[in-house]
Amino acid sequence: MKIQNYINGKMEDPISGNFIDNIEPATGKVYCSIPDSDEQDVEMAVQAAVKVQQAWKTLGADNIGRILNKIAEGIEENLENLAQAESTDNGKPIALAKMVDIPRAAENFRFFAASATQFASESHWMPGRAVNYTLRQPLGVVACISPWNLPLYLFTWKIAPALATGNTVVAKPSEITPATAYLLSKICQQAGLPDGVLNIIHGTGGRTGTPLVNHNKVKALSFTGGTATGALIASQLAPRFKKMSLELGGKNATIVFDDCNYDKALSTAVRAAFTNQGQICLCGSRIYVQEGIYDRFLQDFIAKVEKLKVGDPQDPASKIGAVVSKQHMEKILSHIEIAKSEGGKIEIGGHRIQLDGRCADGYFIAPTVITGLDNDCRTNQEEIFGPVATIQPFKNDEDVLALANNSNYGLACNIWTENINRATRLAEEIDAGIVWINTWLLRDLRTPFGGMKASGVGREGGWEAMRFFTEPKNVCIDYSSK
Ligand code: NAD
Repeated sequence: MKIQNYINGKMEDPISGNFIDNIEPATGKVYCSIPDSDEQDVEMAVQAAVKVQQAWKTLGADNIGRILNKIAEGIEENLENLAQAESTDNGKPIALAKMVDIPRAAENFRFFAASATQFASESHWMPGRAVNYTLRQPLGVVACISPWNLPLYLFTWKIAPALATGNTVVAKPSEITPATAYLLSKICQQAGLPDGVLNIIHGTGGRTGTPLVNHNKVKALSFTGGTATGALIASQLAPRFKKMSLELGGKNATIVFDDCNYDKALSTAVRAAFTNQGQICLCGSRIYVQEGIYDRFLQDFIAKVEKLKVGDPQDPASKIGAVVSKQHMEKILSHIEIAKSEGGKIEIGGHRIQLDGRCADGYFIAPTVITGLDNDCRTNQEEIFGPVATIQPFKNDEDVLALANNSNYGLACNIWTENINRATRLAEEIDAGIVWINTWLLRDLRTPFGGMKASGVGREGGWEAMRFFTEPKNVCIDYSSK
């Protein structure tokens, strides 16, 4: 398969003619090539988006909503094909792609199609004197850049609100997982999205991403990716006063009190740690368990992890697939070595898994549970972004609050207790943009999504996204005669 850019409604090879190999993580083999786009392709895409900006912004919310709904339908009609592509490209279990990634991508378009028709702005009345109203106008051409862990899910989470608010878009998926973004291009063509409204260019962060975010016609950036990349981009865009939404890394706490609903807490804590091979920014990789149930919980947790089937992502029974790349596998394995050198005890896992047959050279890591580490060590402070979780005991509310907040990150947290007062108090004090009580990854698309501290700046979701992609302008009308 040869992936192409989607520029001005057409599928295009990169101008340079250069392509990059794309590897299937489950096999370690090259299975397709992607454009190694550079500033020439970026220029073409931005120009296409500029040309149709006025027409798209004045199309009206109903018409925009109708087209976004058609894209959602196209995604649903191609569910099998897209799920297959996502699983091959990323290494994630096919069942997960079918159940979560692809349905959510369709839902993103449906949700923001509805938002387009419901979005409103404020007016402020000065009795007897004047009325102010706020126009919320599209920014113009915006850039959307997404990572490899939830490829189509996160890509569409940005593109849909950007389009819904009347912006035209140049979007770049991760070069590691380009396949579903390419298939989305074809779905957009079939859905009747006018040429140039959405342009999708493929390539690396340096050669494609840098000229895109720095282009003077690009007014804003919605970015999801690593904290170091976010910091670099922020340093480039801040002096240009470009609007930025940065969704970055996480090192999230799962807090289990001894008064929790034990079975639900246990099974969800396992899911929170290992879904998508632990490669979700919201995964709970620091698990704190209250002393009274610590020994029992640890034993039961390990027993559950032992049952997680690591296998070919194409096998519907696999619960854990391949991690996304060789480089990422090596990074995760090196973190396991660091944990050992820090005095950590590997309770289960801790190594690469060599499967048979077509997956013999794939990048599989056994789900790993580590105990015996203190909270300040690198293992508990750095984002590993793989199937690795630590478990630590704690005494009381105060103790666990200090442990959970002792982190540079502040994305998400999940708390397990049947004491609602305790949970509510803790939720107020936790440094995280998202707190789940007695659940994990339950998402209502209307809610603000994003993190504090090194986990990012700004929020996505619902009106937050609609506001991000618009410029508020106050208009004041003085209707008094004097
Ligand atoms: P990454 O930062 O390496 O890359 C993300 C995207 O940015 C890719 O498309 C990449 O090509 C592009 N990019 C890289 N350098 C760039 C540059 N200088 N200019 C412009 N674009 C550039 O991240 P990744 O490894 O793909 O993703 C994993 C990270 O994403 C993890 O840290 C994870 O926590 C984070 N993440 C965060 C969220 C969230 O919502 N907070 C969600 C998912 C993933």
